[in-house]
Amino acid sequence: MKSTGGESTAAESGSTRVEMDNEVVNSPPQRQSHFHPGEKLKCSTSSAARALKNCSNGVIIAGIPVANLTEDEAVALIDELISVGGPHYGAVVNAAKVVAADRDPELKRALLEADFVTADGMSVVWASSVLGPRLKQRVTGIDLFERLLAHAEEQELTVYFLGARDESVRGLVELARNRFPALRIAGYHNGYFQESDSEAICEEIMRSRADLLFVAMGSPRQEVWIKSHILLTGVRFALGVGGSFDHLSGKVRRAPKWMQNSGLEWLHRFVQEPARLWKRYLIGNSAFVLLILKQLVGGARSR
Ligand code: UDP
Repeated sequence: MKSTGGESTAAESGSTRVEMDNEVVNSPPQRQSHFHPGEKLKCSTSSAARALKNCSNGVIIAGIPVANLTEDEAVALIDELISVGGPHYGAVVNAAKVVAADRDPELKRALLEADFVTADGMSVVWASSVLGPRLKQRVTGIDLFERLLAHAEEQELTVYFLGARDESVRGLVELARNRFPALRIAGYHNGYFQESDSEAICEEIMRSRADLLFVAMGSPRQEVWIKSHILLTGVRFALGVGGSFDHLSGKVRRAPKWMQNSGLEWLHRFVQEPARLWKRYLIGNSAFVLLILKQLVGGARSR
């Protein structure tokens, strides 16, 4: 296993130092971007709108096309994207992110340019049943992430973890080594770095020759970062996974299964971090309902 583990030591306030082990620093950048502009794939396009049209009869929610995929289908789609050559990326949305995208053109663009977007929150699935067609299931970032780790181990794909605090990303690496012993971890880096360090981090990822990149820096930072840097990383596929490193490393507990299945996962998270999340859930969820109503009324008028 090649573990490079370049980490930044920077706290939020200070400058960021990127450390890389000798193996990585001394080896020349060999991997070129996988991007071949001419290439096409039935289910793979550069825009979520086209992905929606081509590979699943999903639903447009407040301008965001959400693909109607099961988790298995999402993994199969990612396999196709990887085989056609990259770079590609996926994203997941919950109510708060849909609302944020409605107000933030940069986030919206990052979601529209994703190869696919799935429903991270039950509220998105519920909205789909009102707007139609109802999504088959929600495919959360964390569940897809775990599935992809197992898949990467099986398929001998290398992975790179970018995001969260140092202790979280290290905890995740430890967990991944225990749970997926044959998984090839190309490297990792915390998510607290200055924008000016992005290029050095991309170079590190490029040198690591990672196939899959998981970015856990919260929204909109992770989606926007992936969109604007994926070409420089040379990875085949990237996914924004939000708070997954914190959950999997055990820093933050995930809701019990019954809460996840009944759409109450947000409540569990809210109780754990009310100061940070009250705005997201209380204001975000109401704004989401308003957006769905607006879309319903608009749709009825145009009929
Ligand atoms: N984070 C980061 N860099 C930042 C801001 C946040 O790496 O500049 C990390 C943070 O430590 C946490 C994750 O991003 O691990 C954000 O999780 P959040 O709960 O907001 O994501 P969600 O799952 O709700 O999308």
